[in-house]
Amino acid sequence: MREFFSNLGRRIRTGLIGRYGIDEFSRFLMILGIVFLFLGIIRPLQFLAIPAWILVIYAYYRCFSKNIVKRSNERDRYLRITGKFKGKFSVYGRMWKERKTHKYYRCSVCRTMVRVPRGKGKIAITCPKCRNEFIKTT
Ligand SMILES: [Zn+2]
Repeated sequence: MREFFSNLGRRIRTGLIGRYGIDEFSRFLMILGIVFLFLGIIRPLQFLAIPAWILVIYAYYRCFSKNIVKRSNERDRYLRITGKFKGKFSVYGRMWKERKTHKYYRCSVCRTMVRVPRGKGKIAITCPKCRNEFIKTT
């Protein structure tokens, strides 16, 4: 029995050689698929069962895929998108934390967020990126 399991482990490991394996994107697809599966239990959300299975099957497919270049391109795209989201959220988190000491304005030209100290009255703010100047009350 014990030998069976150690052989099984070896077989899985050698079976995965040349395969792509698990990455962040597969994990995300898997979690999303499981969430959809659970939501699909609720009657009005039953239609979610189909995309749920598609997500789970696709996550498995990615793990066992031999097209490593394509899979890592998918992963890069996924990380780029989530990285943008995380960046945005960290800005909002910081704005909330510093809401009593600083004010945030968006540059009307390049959309860059500019941080200025509160309570300085009317000031001219120069955008650090594009040098656009605008007047705001802090
Ligand atoms: Zn600007």
